[in-house]
Amino acid sequence: MALQETGGHLHCRAIINPPNPCRSVAALASTGIFSEAVPMSQRTGVLLLVSGPSGSGKTTLCRRLARDGEAHYSISCTTRPVREGEVNAHDYYFLTREQFEADVETENFLEHAEVHGNLYGTLKSEVLEFLKRGEDVVVDIDVQGAAQVRSCDDPLIAASLVDLFVMPASEDELRKRLANRATDTEEVIALRLRNALEEMRHAGSYTYRLISGSKEDDYQRFKSLLVAERLRVSRLA
Ligand code: 5GP
Repeated sequence: MALQETGGHLHCRAIINPPNPCRSVAALASTGIFSEAVPMSQRTGVLLLVSGPSGSGKTTLCRRLARDGEAHYSISCTTRPVREGEVNAHDYYFLTREQFEADVETENFLEHAEVHGNLYGTLKSEVLEFLKRGEDVVVDIDVQGAAQVRSCDDPLIAASLVDLFVMPASEDELRKRLANRATDTEEVIALRLRNALEEMRHAGSYTYRLISGSKEDDYQRFKSLLVAERLRVSRLA
């Protein structure tokens, strides 16, 4: 470090390397530092796990990310009845209890849990191959499933995982959003509200939290998380 005096002020000037750009670039390349700038196809994927109560808007966020080509949306299996407008193999793989249990038996699930009285599970085939190819995967699962994924001993899952809890701005807002869901009966809404409040108790187990505001702002923050996580040095080949 050299000190220069100009006009009565002292300025610090770093003299660390002589200004020889060609030599510095060659030196950096030989240390392998530029290998961190490899194309995205040479990194492992991000497993973006999203939980949050019904009505938090998490499914909309996950679906939009997939629609924009930013990540693969993992289609879950469920035994719950099909809602109006839902399509098998797009919204869920709708299974009978017997079919679901057969998948449990053959260890096809990365995680599975009973939610609101129905069975839900994430297929390994919806996640692992994508991550290996360097594709990002977004999974929309409940807090029980999230705990199972967090404690999974597969090193690929452990290295890929980023968990986020999406929550409504207030209990009132949550009530409003649940009531606006024309697809559910009063009884189902009440059950979902109780479950939502219970689920929010687990928000502290997640690395990230997004408190829902406007749809557009939520999505921009959500996508920014994925974009930032792609830059982790540990994901680069
Ligand atoms: P819905 O029936 O409203 O689509 O989803 C109900 C709840 O089940 C949501 O909290 C959703 O995140 C959760 N869920 C959806 N798919 C899965 C899954 O594969 N595994 C687990 N554990 N929960 C899921």
